[in-house]
Amino acid sequence: MIARIAAAALVVSMGLGAQPVANRSEDLKPATVGVTLTFDGKPSRGFVKSLRQEVASLFRPTGLDLRWQILERGTKPGVYDRAVVLRMKGRCNASAVYDATREPQARRTLGETIISDGEVLPIVVVNCDEIARAVSDLRFQAVGPLALPNVHLRLTARVVAHELLHALLKNPDHQETDCAKALLRPADLLSVARLSAGEVAELQKIGRPSSVGILAER
Ligand SMILES: [Zn+2]
Repeated sequence: MIARIAAAALVVSMGLGAQPVANRSEDLKPATVGVTLTFDGKPSRGFVKSLRQEVASLFRPTGLDLRWQILERGTKPGVYDRAVVLRMKGRCNASAVYDATREPQARRTLGETIISDGEVLPIVVVNCDEIARAVSDLRFQAVGPLALPNVHLRLTARVVAHELLHALLKNPDHQETDCAKALLRPADLLSVARLSAGEVAELQKIGRPSSVGILAER
């Protein structure tokens, strides 16, 4: 079983983009990233909280201030240095792992970041049903049933982190690092992922003035 994560060239026109803060001062406040989640069904509070904590732990070395909110009727969008919309598709709960029917498949697309006209948009789709199936497949390998919820949470966080890398760095490319690799293998589903030093450095540039400053323009 090979789980696959890929950027997809889908075109949307949701009009949701980053909302840069005007006249951001050159202070050292952490850059803010608004992460707006939409779910097909009502998610469990426990799952959302755990996912936030897991993704926050992955992104901690970057110093970015991830501000999560679930998009509901009447939700007012906040103002952030950057904003990403995460569509959580299907059943995003560890219990889905136990209900998943066995459908052996060589590759599964677990998440996608939307690309339009070659530009990476801040819109991510996380396929929770495929994540549940990928974890469920591990039941038939060397993973005990009690460990599955943890594996499910870690894998969901890893897919979110992978797609956030595409969306925040506006880069559709893949690397052979924990979070930027295109293909996950069963062993990856059992390991703890970390951002590479290069990824941390790139993410730390978000919300910071360019090192090549322009003093005056004529
Ligand atoms: Zn990818």
